[in-house]
Amino acid sequence: MAMKRVIKGVHVIPMGMANAFLIEGDDGLTLIDAGYPNKEAAVFDAIRGLGHSPDQLKHLIFTHGHPDHIGSAAAIVRETGARTYMHQLDIPLAESGGPFRPMSAAPGLLRRVLCKLFYPPGWRVDPVSIDQPLTPGEMLYIAGGFDVIHTPGHCAGQVALLWRPGRMLFAGDVCMNIMGLGDPIGFESLEEGRASQRNVAGLSFETAGFGHGEPIAREASSRFRNKWCNKSPA
Ligand SMILES: [Zn+2]
Ligand SMILES: [Zn+2]
Repeated sequence: MAMKRVIKGVHVIPMGMANAFLIEGDDGLTLIDAGYPNKEAAVFDAIRGLGHSPDQLKHLIFTHGHPDHIGSAAAIVRETGARTYMHQLDIPLAESGGPFRPMSAAPGLLRRVLCKLFYPPGWRVDPVSIDQPLTPGEMLYIAGGFDVIHTPGHCAGQVALLWRPGRMLFAGDVCMNIMGLGDPIGFESLEEGRASQRNVAGLSFETAGFGHGEPIAREASSRFRNKWCNKSPA
């Protein structure tokens, strides 16, 4: 599977069963997340396919430190020299390459099966060092600006990133969009995860990208609100 354009300036890159996103900014290329291990060629192919070279990848921002989001990071950084960003609670995961914190499966049979299949906490991946911790509430001056929103629950150091120029939310694993918008496969804390879902559903954005599943190109925040916020009378 090859990359696909989501909106102007943003492409989704399938990296195994997880997505990465490539953003073309005036200040170079930015990658959100780094997929499963051994998928770095998909990123380099995408960069070249857009007429750039790998050394133009300047920033690699992680939504969280799970193995399916950092798996190819070390190889990508070796080739590109990209600067890396992650919430400080997950930095030890990235810099050790595992083991990872345990999660309980999200409610429902499908998620219980997926969680067993796709999240072995004892997994090891190539460690990657993080250059800059992400601070919740900060605006990151990259590619025109990202708001950093702390979204714990699935993973303590998870953030969602709201890209201002394209009004696109990078949701990480706050939720996924496989057979409809719904829970990620598991939670470290279900209660915190629900609070984070409601928190992002209160934001205004047009487009949403997920760690797993298809992006939603238009009117995404109203889909989030219908799913996670109490409907108020019009
Ligand atoms: Zn995850
Ligand atoms: Zn994931």
